[in-house]
Amino acid sequence: NEITVGELASRMKKSPAEIIKKLMLLGIMATVNETLDFDTASLMVEEFGGIVEKEIILTDEEILFDDFEDTAEQLKPRSPVVVVMGHVDHGKTSLLDAIRDTNVTEGEFGGITQHIGAHRVRVGEKKITFLDTPGHEAFTAMRARGALVTDIAILVVAADDGIMPQTIEAINHAKAAEVSIIVAINKIDKDGANPDKVKQELMEHGLVPEEWGGDTICVEVSAKKRQNIKELLEMVLLVAEMKELKANPDRKAKGTVIESQLDKGRGSVATVLVQNGTLHVGDYVVAGTASGRVRAMNNDKGKSVKKAGPSIPVEILGLSEVPEGGDEFYVVEDERKARSVVENRKFQEKKEKQKSATAISLDNLFEQIEAGKMKDLNIVVKADVQGSVEAVKQSLERISNDEVRVNVIHGAVGAINESDVMLASASNAIIVGFNVRPTNGASDAAEDAGVDLRMYRVIYDAIEDIEKAMKGMLEPTF
Ligand code: GDP
Repeated sequence: NEITVGELASRMKKSPAEIIKKLMLLGIMATVNETLDFDTASLMVEEFGGIVEKEIILTDEEILFDDFEDTAEQLKPRSPVVVVMGHVDHGKTSLLDAIRDTNVTEGEFGGITQHIGAHRVRVGEKKITFLDTPGHEAFTAMRARGALVTDIAILVVAADDGIMPQTIEAINHAKAAEVSIIVAINKIDKDGANPDKVKQELMEHGLVPEEWGGDTICVEVSAKKRQNIKELLEMVLLVAEMKELKANPDRKAKGTVIESQLDKGRGSVATVLVQNGTLHVGDYVVAGTASGRVRAMNNDKGKSVKKAGPSIPVEILGLSEVPEGGDEFYVVEDERKARSVVENRKFQEKKEKQKSATAISLDNLFEQIEAGKMKDLNIVVKADVQGSVEAVKQSLERISNDEVRVNVIHGAVGAINESDVMLASASNAIIVGFNVRPTNGASDAAEDAGVDLRMYRVIYDAIEDIEKAMKGMLEPTF
């Protein structure tokens, strides 16, 4: 239970100088970085007329809750959480519509899907949870915030168009997140549809179709004609079964905020996906820096529910503020605890912001390797021609050594875009560009996220820089 003078000052909303002065009056000489024990810190708080709550000085985990590991007996199967990705116009939205329709016509739920950001469909005895916002950008934005909600990605590829740049992005974003990929070869109703060509192209990107001896399941569908949708869903369940997805429904709920808004009549409305435990009406929750008691819950069919277990998305009412998509939520014991956690979170967030400049960069690479924090150096490569992408990829991966493995997690032709930055941020990667520039949006995003962008004209220079950086011999650039 220790805290530095600087941290204490920040939590008390005082300047460090004020604290240091007070300490001096008590005969304690301290600098900003000096650590104070609990008693001294409490004394300071009281000196300034504050109230000491012991929790305030605990870490998030300490305050939070019974963070015990679930035992094998406690774990029960849960349904998979699925996202749809793919190139623009290949049919992501249409496929989600088709999936929703298939379910409604079966009349199993007896309700029309409400838009809450995620929905559940029933296939036979089992259910699947779909996230409603398609695309890898939304997916990786959540991941960049630390949220891992998806189990399986359905990669939509139009059979008349084949693999396109955003298809490759989607593949690499899904791989970086270690999410299973199922391919939906869409638009097979169209003249010019060529599923075999799609499969051929998939192979070139490391996804070998099952029927050709690999382990990537491909299903030929038509979202428009509602063909093979059920088969696709069955494949999702098959892959889910192999993953043995489990959670413990008998503990306090924990999960992720999917989306949220401020509703005129209802106040803060947040859709959360429960990932472990069961959420109940009346529970005290913390979501990001919002807290409150769950006043009411609605499911994806607009029905009011009293509880929600693992993999179930629900809209909750009763939070003090509007949390952000990607925020973690937890149930805590009581209101006081909820407030302490939020205080602590707000404080941690501030600290994180100050720290965000320490994302991986070539300048601090060696330091991080020395500190034992780096085992994988992840790199996103963008270049003006495909030949360079390949050449760089091969040369970079060859400079791996015993301490650090260099992984090119995404390589493509074109300008460095915001999606590249998000991927790099979520995967703690640096971005290397050859004869390409970042878009304006990407430069700003990189600056915000502290992602290191390195531009080169010659491949050799890049290799040399990275090799030097790995050995701590890179001259700093100013
Ligand atoms: P998204 O950008 O990936 O979400 O793609 P959309 O779902 O908006 O679909 C793009 C276009 O392709 C729309 O005009 C759809 O009607 C069309 N489309 C989607 N699926 C199919 C399909 O299976 N067959 C045909 N012929 N057209 C489709």
